[in-house]
Amino acid sequence: MHYDILVIGGGHAGAEAAYAAATMGCRVGMVTLNPDKIGFMSCNPAIGGLAKGQLVKEIDALGGLMGMNADASGIQFRRLNQSKGPAVRSSRAQCDKLLYSKNLKAKIQSHPAIEVISQEVVSIQAQKYRVASVQTKDGSEIKTRCVIITSGTFLKAVMHTGETQEHGGRVGDPASLGLSDSLLAFGFRLRRLKTGTPPRLHRGSIDWEKTETQFGDAIPIPFSFYRAPNPFPYLEQISCHITYTHEKTHEIIEKAFDRSPIFTGQIKGVGPRYCPSIEDKVSRFREKSRHQIFLEPEGHGVEDVYVNGVSTSLPSEVQEAFIRTIPGLEKARFLRFGYAVEYDAVDSRQLKRTFESKDIDGLFTAGQINGTSGYEEAGAQGLIAGINAALKVKNQPEWVLNRSQGYLGVLADDLTLTGSDEPYRMFTSRAEHRLLLREDNADARLTPLGRQLGLISDEVWAQFNQKWEKIEKLKEKLHQTYVFPVEHHQNFFRSRQMPDIKDRLALFDLLKRPKVTIKSLLEISPDLGLSDSPISEQVEIQAKYEGYIRRDRQLLMGIEKNENQKIPLDLNFNQIHGLSNEVRARLLETRPETLGQLSRIQGVTPAAVASVLIFLKMKDKKAPEMTKKQKRKQRVTKYLEDTAHLRIEKQNHANSARFPSV
Ligand code: FAD
Repeated sequence: MHYDILVIGGGHAGAEAAYAAATMGCRVGMVTLNPDKIGFMSCNPAIGGLAKGQLVKEIDALGGLMGMNADASGIQFRRLNQSKGPAVRSSRAQCDKLLYSKNLKAKIQSHPAIEVISQEVVSIQAQKYRVASVQTKDGSEIKTRCVIITSGTFLKAVMHTGETQEHGGRVGDPASLGLSDSLLAFGFRLRRLKTGTPPRLHRGSIDWEKTETQFGDAIPIPFSFYRAPNPFPYLEQISCHITYTHEKTHEIIEKAFDRSPIFTGQIKGVGPRYCPSIEDKVSRFREKSRHQIFLEPEGHGVEDVYVNGVSTSLPSEVQEAFIRTIPGLEKARFLRFGYAVEYDAVDSRQLKRTFESKDIDGLFTAGQINGTSGYEEAGAQGLIAGINAALKVKNQPEWVLNRSQGYLGVLADDLTLTGSDEPYRMFTSRAEHRLLLREDNADARLTPLGRQLGLISDEVWAQFNQKWEKIEKLKEKLHQTYVFPVEHHQNFFRSRQMPDIKDRLALFDLLKRPKVTIKSLLEISPDLGLSDSPISEQVEIQAKYEGYIRRDRQLLMGIEKNENQKIPLDLNFNQIHGLSNEVRARLLETRPETLGQLSRIQGVTPAAVASVLIFLKMKDKKAPEMTKKQKRKQRVTKYLEDTAHLRIEKQNHANSARFPSV
């Protein structure tokens, strides 16, 4: 068997990677432990959320699967932060978990260029630092040009419920035991991470009367710009519910601290601080007398209700006791107990922004294995890795997004440059250009790039062009239509407690004012034609935030001048004068790809950035005859170079103390 690209894993990263690479014309093999679980949602069947919604929109804008799959299986859609600025608005959908997985599996299995193989990969072989093949548990060898590992929470995974421990990547699935050793042999630094999940309760055992109802949006908005199902929403919509823990709940949990694997030291892996378990919350926020809990049905075809907010690895009898103190859950029947899972992840600083290893040609890792958490972060990485593996197969240049082009760029830059010592999730605060990286304009930012890559169909491309032409036309119309200082127009202002106008004013400029919405312009000009809401919303955002957006763009142009200056991966930082030993050691370890990345490494001073920039500029010029002094410096540099490995070893030793390998 021989493939262009072999994707290990059929989760959220694996599905995007395989689909993108296959759509770009590569022959893809997807090896996964259980093909029936392609696209399985290990935790809450919800897609999107704050900043994650932006990732889903960007995946969709590049022709990925996640958004349209969530649209086709969504049972509750909400746009979060709707009343706040457009930079922080994010979509979220509660999905029918069985349908989500079924649809994703169908997409993968029906792609003519993807072959699904039900096996466990136990090792990867490379020749001369270049990927050559993988070996599966049954002893077969599969040859390939590139490998994308998307093994999620499965590497040497151990599940914990109280004192009980068992090997397994998630309930019902085995752990993957061999691959970690292959990664170690390739020089990867591995670390142990942990994530957890709450119990699932039987829908019929909950007293819903005692809970608050949380409705979805009255007019749901799909994730997908051009591929949402028609009609939308496609499935019958449901409500979620809210309840709260209270002091009795906390008392039971606190009494069981000595049986919690996160407190007894049984779990060594680092969990996400932003998403603590209920025992963590009770311990850390003692002043809080209650914690909010969302009861979220997992679909139409199942009875399971996800108890969002009480992720736990306490013993099952403790889980039963504390859950039954919660209003509405007094008679709760458990379909599954909460548990935590510990697994191996790679140090993502050893990857390029394409998610290819800096050392092994053709070896990519994407998803939870890179130290992230969440379907959206996984899908985004899978897409980037899939695109770049395909480009490698076609001998084309790498494809990377800058931080200013998308959350995908922020994710890749953060992971590969600074890494993270806890499972990484996306936040809007991570994106310094978030006003430019909005959900609503993800297609404008990325669909043309997706089209160049071969990921966007003719049909979607035509729709994209039509939409943005309509937006330009509406903007033009608003620029050319005016309000005048005449009585019936002044009423518009007076009814909003705004001062009268003295001169004519274009509707586009009027729209910039806080009390004016695009819909309200119909009072002045009823024939504006605002029936297409994504179009009018886009024009409204552009008008209201024009000043801020322009300022952000100008700032960006200044930054980008040197940001994209490439640094060769084999650049010898020992040759550069003016760098301290500490900075040199950090640069040798991180091996930044651009000057922008270099400037963001902790401890790298502006003076050091300038030294590297000057060196790079000089490097391109012809080297002049060396003076005696320079020759002496060269000898010193050579000595530093020859002994660099000692300093790197020292640094690695310090790192391995932070990220213990297993
Ligand atoms: P996964 O979806 O885990 O897919 C991994 C795939 O790799 C599987 O198909 C598996 O069969 C395959 N595989 C692994 N090893 C091999 C091998 N050697 N050979 C062949 N196939 C292999 N996310 C959150 O955002 N918040 C949470 O609170 C949260 N809690 C979680 C709790 C638990 C218990 C678990 C298990 C997951 C949780 N998640 C949570 C994480 C969420 O499930 C992941 O972020 C997401 O599934 C990661 O996607 P992925 O594609 O990287 O990996």
